[in-house]
Amino acid sequence: THDFAGLKALVTGGASGIGRATAELLAARGAQVAVLDLDPSSVDKPLLGYQADVSDATSVRQAVAAAVADLGGLDVLVNNAGIGAQGTVEDNDDAEWHRVLDVNVLGMVRTARAALPHLRESAHAAIVNTCSIAATAGLPQRALYSASKGAVLSLTLAMAADHVREGIRVNCVNPGTADTPWVGRLLDAAADPAAERAALEARQPTGRLVSAAEVAGAIAYLASPLSGATTGTALAVDGGMQGL
Ligand code: NAD
Repeated sequence: THDFAGLKALVTGGASGIGRATAELLAARGAQVAVLDLDPSSVDKPLLGYQADVSDATSVRQAVAAAVADLGGLDVLVNNAGIGAQGTVEDNDDAEWHRVLDVNVLGMVRTARAALPHLRESAHAAIVNTCSIAATAGLPQRALYSASKGAVLSLTLAMAADHVREGIRVNCVNPGTADTPWVGRLLDAAADPAAERAALEARQPTGRLVSAAEVAGAIAYLASPLSGATTGTALAVDGGMQGL
């Protein structure tokens, strides 16, 4: 159960939800884990917390450099920080498109750029991106969010091809609706939160939301040497909703 012994990992958006569960799971499996987040104040030992905004290149460079220096190297990058957006193309203006794509897509690009020189030095290098079923599901009222995750899916495949010969694997997970503080905020904002939760649960054939720990388990698999022959894949964690 110590498949991450000696490995060093960085998790973006690791102060909450899926990122938090992933950071805790990797640490429990023996990794040294750094969390990069807008607000890392809730991050406790043994996790190391670093403040950064993935939409700011300088902030990402500095936080990744500090984390890698403290960890003494880097084997695993979990690109997980992301934000939501609701509506059709008529509801979100250009500024909102730029803001969400900047975090959800370029955020992963910036973190990868900062991490790649260090990952090249690792014998077990892996990048795992948190994508979403929204990348391919054609969900209503999610035009911008879906486009951002579609880009994450394509980016994952392209990066896998670019870096496979350097010994760096790149995969992503596609969660269905996961029970995280993010979804909690969405439900709180609904006119009837209980009915909205029931509707989200009914959408997944398992009849329940995915847990953050279940997404973390899939990320941990793709980050670990156990998946050493797997690169350029998307692993669905969606209660049977869609698969890919
Ligand atoms: P969450 O809101 O609980 O956690 C997201 C974390 O990311 C927070 O700690 C937040 O501070 C951090 N973050 C946000 N913007 C950031 C920025 N600019 N720089 C640095 N950190 C930033 O959300 P979650 O549900 O755990 O979502 C995590 C990822 O999972 C996202 O990429 C999301 O798109 C994806 N996802 C979530 C679901 C779901 O149903 N919850 C489903 C599919 C995919």
